[in-house]
Amino acid sequence: MAEASIIDGQAVAARLRQRVGEAAAELRARHAVVPGLAAIIVGDDPASQIYVRNKARACAAAGLASFEHTLPGDATEAEIIALVRALDADERVDGILVQLPLPAHIDARAIVAEIDPAKDVDGFHPLNIGRLWGGGKSLVPCTPHGCMILLRRLQRGLAGSEAVVLGRSQIVGRPLAALLIAADCTVTLVHTKSRDIPGICRRADILIAAAGRPAMVKADWIKPGATVIDVGTNRVATPDGVRLVGDVDFTAARKVAGAITPVPGGVGPMTIACLLQNTVLAACRRRGLPDPALIDP
Ligand code: NAP
Repeated sequence: MAEASIIDGQAVAARLRQRVGEAAAELRARHAVVPGLAAIIVGDDPASQIYVRNKARACAAAGLASFEHTLPGDATEAEIIALVRALDADERVDGILVQLPLPAHIDARAIVAEIDPAKDVDGFHPLNIGRLWGGGKSLVPCTPHGCMILLRRLQRGLAGSEAVVLGRSQIVGRPLAALLIAADCTVTLVHTKSRDIPGICRRADILIAAAGRPAMVKADWIKPGATVIDVGTNRVATPDGVRLVGDVDFTAARKVAGAITPVPGGVGPMTIACLLQNTVLAACRRRGLPDPALIDP
């Protein structure tokens, strides 16, 4: 059997970022609006700082404004909430993201609940979660949205496909389930209490791995010809240093799957492109302007 084709997330993300840039330029020219994204980091976690710096760079490249707010690791919940409320009221800010994880003494849900749902570009506010499940217009969580864009570019019709998602987290597995159901797939979520995980995965026409377990998905878990989307981002030590690997045993899986995302270069670049997209959508919707045509759905 031929090797699976590689789904080039980098290329799709680059195209989406270009479209976001064009939409932002049009907003500026026609309405004097510069969409703005504010990021809150609590503490000095180096990974979070890198993520936020990359987001700021991506904003600048697309012509978006970015605002970074760093609070000390011992900041109180009340202090973080006060900052979120100030950003809710700030007209220059269209999107607010709180970089997770937050320190253990902070209740992340209480913080996210304070974000104006119209500025909730991560799509984690309860109102946006409810709208997503109810089929209403919402800001969709970035990583699941990125997965759906990749799937749709590969397969126009997803209806009737058997989709299995490995993982049921609030940020990946659950919103993905809502999006796959909306696309008329038959959806199964697999988690640590599931029985016969390989057997369930083998049924999948679309297998999405988001467990955070390096190379957990073996070649014999994959239905021949299936589409495999690997969300996993795991740092593993090798003799040559730290390497980024997915949740799928890529080399072996490629011999069985029909199409597969690499790690890195698959879902990762889509997440940040979707964040920029959500910021522009939020900027339009908050002002009653129509959504710009960003990328083929
Ligand atoms: P998470 O919150 O830790 O959730 C992991 C999920 O996988 C849980 O539902 C867990 O089940 C399930 N799981 C873990 N080990 C399992 C096992 N051995 N068998 C069956 N199910 C298992 O992780 P997350 O935040 O969703 O992230 C998942 C992965 O995606 C991570 O590698 C993360 O770095 C990556 N990620 C990448 C991006 C990107 O932009 N590329 C964005 C977000 C996340 P239980 O619910 O039963 O515990």
